Amino acid sequence: MRKPWRVISASGTVLMLAAAPAPARAGNVMRARTWTGPVTVTICEVLTPGKSLSEEDRKKLLARGCDLPVKDPETKLLTPTAAAHVRAALGVWKTNYEKNIVLTEADSAPTGGRYIRFSRVEGEICSSVGLGKSSTRIIHEVHVADSCGTYTLVHELMHRVGIVHEHQRKEQVSYFTVKYTALGNSLGASDQFKIEGDKSGSYDFRSLMHYQLSNKYFTITMLPDGEKALKAQGITNPADKSNGVGQRVAVSAGDKAAMADLYGAHP
Ligand SMILES: [Zn+2]
Repeated sequence: MRKPWRVISASGTVLMLAAAPAPARAGNVMRARTWTGPVTVTICEVLTPGKSLSEEDRKKLLARGCDLPVKDPETKLLTPTAAAHVRAALGVWKTNYEKNIVLTEADSAPTGGRYIRFSRVEGEICSSVGLGKSSTRIIHEVHVADSCGTYTLVHELMHRVGIVHEHQRKEQVSYFTVKYTALGNSLGASDQFKIEGDKSGSYDFRSLMHYQLSNKYFTITMLPDGEKALKAQGITNPADKSNGVGQRVAVSAGDKAAMADLYGAHP
């Protein structure tokens, strides 16, 4: 059994609670090219809002490969708002990464083939189970809480195709220190800052895969080299939620470069 792996989001929520991934290439996890496209995506969502699950809707959702418990199947289904965020995330993906790896929403899961499935979870957890594509798993799950925003879901999808957190790069040790709160310690937040090897290009503080500077689990304090790197990247206010560290409003230039490096471009 591998140790549980938790990821905590920029907004202070736990983003990932899953088995630790096996590195596809030792010491260089961030370059793990794990899929060849196109990848099928299914969304387990409420199809008829305000009504309990009909037999017809149940059949449609089973075709999508959804897990529908006999008792309260709705608990596994995304609300219309959450489903809209997922589709918005797929739209962001199409705009920015489609030439690298294609994700295609479908009404049916491929028979025997691997696919990405979005299902609802209670609470505030937005999580991606594992990293990249496991050789043993058919369903590659993204758990969506009602509060998951569009770019947080893009972050989770990037984990799904093999991208690790930016702050887990080796430069971390010279750029900043991390202090964990009691809650962070109890949840194993330090796992989210473990060095995971090299990544393509240079360190990108604006990456969607970077955490913000502080939340209820930890506080990041910059070291002089980190301050220099921030300045070199034109970041004057690292706490700025739209243009600072841990932003969740846009795909960064570094994110695009990492995806191109990992997956190349389709002809
Ligand atoms: Zn993450």
